[in-house]
Amino acid sequence: MSNELIIPQQIDLLRQKIPAEVRLIAVSKQVSVSAIRIAYDCGIRDFAENRLQEAIAKQEQLQDLSDICWHFIGHIQSKKARKVLEHFSWIHSLDSLKLAKKLNNLALELSISPQVLLQVKILPDPNKYGWEVSELVAALPQLNSCDHLNIQGLMAILPLGLTSEQILAAFTQTRKVAETIQQQQWSNLTMNQLSMGMSGDYLLAIKAGATMVRLGTVIFGQRAI
Ligand SMILES: *Cc1c(COP(=O)(O)O)cnc(C)c1O
Repeated sequence: MSNELIIPQQIDLLRQKIPAEVRLIAVSKQVSVSAIRIAYDCGIRDFAENRLQEAIAKQEQLQDLSDICWHFIGHIQSKKARKVLEHFSWIHSLDSLKLAKKLNNLALELSISPQVLLQVKILPDPNKYGWEVSELVAALPQLNSCDHLNIQGLMAILPLGLTSEQILAAFTQTRKVAETIQQQQWSNLTMNQLSMGMSGDYLLAIKAGATMVRLGTVIFGQRAI
């Protein structure tokens, strides 16, 4: 992990580029608690993690920062779903009906109503989890009946190696899918949130209508692989 001294400067730069209404989520996977504290001191309150055990260990050391909003952005195995719900307010990575039903049942049991995004695979990518658009459309009636979940929108991750034009087109397509679903007026799902854009493509994502960007490298520096 590179020099923690750059973090405040990086956050300042990002704030100049990112409109105030777009939620800046700091992706703190593989980042030390001291670096998280520096970002917190710069006013960041949204942090995202993709590994449960690592996240819980860090959350324990950050209990004094009680107004952090934690976002889960990794694939969720069924057996870990309960702990994810106990430790995170937002889940960006709901990627199957089986998981939706599991989370819905657990949310009822825990008397919570978590904020959830549906992870879509807008372009084919064998290395990624997520719904293909046609699968998502077919699953909507059942997702709509998961009434203990607050389904708020879509999350997209793009495959590597696209041109800027292709990235912008794919994020725009994601927004259109959300708009189409929104027009169907489901009783229990809204499509107001679009979590899209990482360090390499967040400006294009914002141009296409992102409401949340998930930024790691551009805040904290390069991660070890
Ligand atoms: C790691 C990760 C990010 C952040 O990636 P950077 O390129 O470092 O900004 C965003 N979203 C997800 C789902 C990730 O796993």
